[in-house]
Amino acid sequence: MKKYDFIIAGGGMAGLSLAYYLLQSPLRDRRILILDREQKNRNDRTWCFWEREQQKTESTDSSALLHPFESILFRTWNAISFHGTTYAGELDMRGYQYKMLRGIDFYGFIDTELAKWPNVERKQATIQRIKDTPQGGFVIADDEPYIADYVFDSTFALKLDQPENHNLLQHFKGWVITTSMPCFDSKCAEIMDFRIGQGGDCRFIYVLPFNEKTALVEFTIFNSALLADEEYDVELQQYIDRFLPTGGYEICETEYGVIPMSDEPTQENPSEHIVRIGTAGGFTKASTGYTFHRTQRYLQEIVNNLATTGKPNRTIPWFKRRFKLYDSIFLNVLEQNRHPADDIFTRIYTENPRRVFKFLDEETHFFEEIQLFATMPFWPFLSAFFSVLRRKIAG
Ligand SMILES: Cc1cc2nc3c(=O)[nH]c(=O)nc-3n(C[C@H](O)[C@H](O)[C@H](O)COP(=O)(O)OP(=O)(O)OC[C@H]3O[C@@H](n4cnc5c(N)ncnc54)[C@H](O)[C@@H]3O)c2cc1C
Repeated sequence: MKKYDFIIAGGGMAGLSLAYYLLQSPLRDRRILILDREQKNRNDRTWCFWEREQQKTESTDSSALLHPFESILFRTWNAISFHGTTYAGELDMRGYQYKMLRGIDFYGFIDTELAKWPNVERKQATIQRIKDTPQGGFVIADDEPYIADYVFDSTFALKLDQPENHNLLQHFKGWVITTSMPCFDSKCAEIMDFRIGQGGDCRFIYVLPFNEKTALVEFTIFNSALLADEEYDVELQQYIDRFLPTGGYEICETEYGVIPMSDEPTQENPSEHIVRIGTAGGFTKASTGYTFHRTQRYLQEIVNNLATTGKPNRTIPWFKRRFKLYDSIFLNVLEQNRHPADDIFTRIYTENPRRVFKFLDEETHFFEEIQLFATMPFWPFLSAFFSVLRRKIAG
């Protein structure tokens, strides 16, 4: 049986980022195996995230804060706009930028990096089993056994059916369109446009312009039931016809995805030699679905821990866990339809310009959180708070 120091089970966003960080660390000479059933040579998704402009200069150890993919970003927007219930226009980003990284650019960049390292092996194979043993983490892929000191698993499927948890889905379909008439402001990304029927859920469109004639237009829903494919198309078509003076357009690319929005307690370290990472490790922020930037931060912590202590386990300070409670309360408000979601997002973005991104990055102080909560509808959130407590205690 082949023995490695680290097996990365699933070479997607989290697995490949981890490999990159390991190779930048004192552990760069370790034997690493990356297993994935796909070749990762398609633009199968784009990742968007926000980041503070001054992060580069503010931190004394900037590498610990920043992702290393700045040079391959597809777009960076310094301005964002929003269409809500009582406000339409630009939002003050207070020093944050909104960024887009295309899957294909990320996979290509990592391929080039990994090719420089003879101690890294990549295999296209389907993983059938991952198991802890006294000798290490054990993996079977395409009927071949492998063992390693640590297995980093991003293939584990979360169980999203426990009644004490809130298990919503963020599902979306997007078209990259090229228009006959210039109709986009390429300097400004529209992050949420609620001028569409809500159907009792939370539904919005976002428009990420690449230039004045090309943009990704995406229809997104937060609820618990996926739609038929044509329903996403109808929404996209109606929105474009109603709000974008395209003069005719062509669909160049499509994107479809489902992201779990769940407060299922995930086990990042289910056993001694297995570490779950990415969506499988619970790195997705339950209330927003954003995963990319958090994954970069958490993986850097894991690699730092491994390099300094020999163990990858992250410790989350107890007072940081309050953000999980906030996520559950928010999911409860959405799930139980306690207040229209378009109004909640309008309040969040327009009444909290100074703290909204910081809050979503879980970097606010408690006092700032109280200020943000004060802008929310009181009774729906209070009822959600008690409902979360009841459900979690009963569970
Ligand atoms: C279309 C789409 C768009 C998204 N956009 C954003 C965004 O804009 N911003 C953001 O923050 N998040 C976004 N996300 C959420 C999240 O960032 C991505 O899903 C991200 O790719 C998660 O990284 P991961 O490594 O956990 O999973 P993945 O990137 O999916 O990697 C898992 C890998 O495991 C492999 N695998 C699974 N099972 C097996 C098996 N049995 N054997 C072998 N290999 C296996 C898969 O082939 C895959 O390569 C998006 C998700 C989707 C689907």
